Amino acid sequence: MAYIDFATVKEQVPIEQAIEQLGLSLKERNGQWRGACPICQSGGERALVVTPAKRAFYCFGGRVGGDVIAFVAHIRNCSMKDAAEFLAEGNSTGTSSVPRKSTRSGTVPEESSKEDVRSLRPLTYLQPGHEAALELGLEEDTCVSFGAGYAPKGIMRGRLAIPIHDWIGNLVAYCGRTVMQDSPTLIFPNGFRPEEHIFNANRIGEGELVLMRDPLDVLIATQNGIDNAVCFLTETVTPHQLQILAAFMDSLRIEAIELH
Ligand SMILES: [Zn+2]
Repeated sequence: MAYIDFATVKEQVPIEQAIEQLGLSLKERNGQWRGACPICQSGGERALVVTPAKRAFYCFGGRVGGDVIAFVAHIRNCSMKDAAEFLAEGNSTGTSSVPRKSTRSGTVPEESSKEDVRSLRPLTYLQPGHEAALELGLEEDTCVSFGAGYAPKGIMRGRLAIPIHDWIGNLVAYCGRTVMQDSPTLIFPNGFRPEEHIFNANRIGEGELVLMRDPLDVLIATQNGIDNAVCFLTETVTPHQLQILAAFMDSLRIEAIELH
């Protein structure tokens, strides 16, 4: 096969069709298709999540996500180019029996209306489209939506600064997430008590809560169609934190937690 235009493939192949082409048996619920990931073989029976409305997938096992091409590349464990070819071939031989669903336009993952009230002023110098952020798998839109960005200066200098809000949406602090592999993974300003906060709690709605391990995972999962993802900001979890979580779940009428 000759030249494959990634953009055309992305445009023309609905992600539901890729599920079929890949021979995956995923189950649909509330507009999402879920099942075990045959590649990662971790993350449980519902590790793989395909969200047609966002034309995105996320794998809790591999903690990766992306568009339809990235989806095929993940499941076939192949390059993006081979994945695009696979999709293009499937599309032209008429295996498409899945009707195209209407998709939301734009890729901004979340509304941010709840963030209007702020007790701390947002940092204006953060760079949401910085190379270091993109290399982590983040899209600029996602960073903008979360108010995150690479910090070229300040106490988070050289890290991805991610805002932390209270439940109501007040900005309380920024954490600095490493963009390399160095430790600590997260740093906080002096006086901030990470054990008293649940990251992303301000954006959570009803339904199931997804508890992750790293704010970066929360951003990437949200970018790829996972709603209601939160995380603690500490390595270990104390009884007090679980009490906060329980109260929070109670007030939002969240019935179940999915742990990743
Ligand atoms: Zn996987």
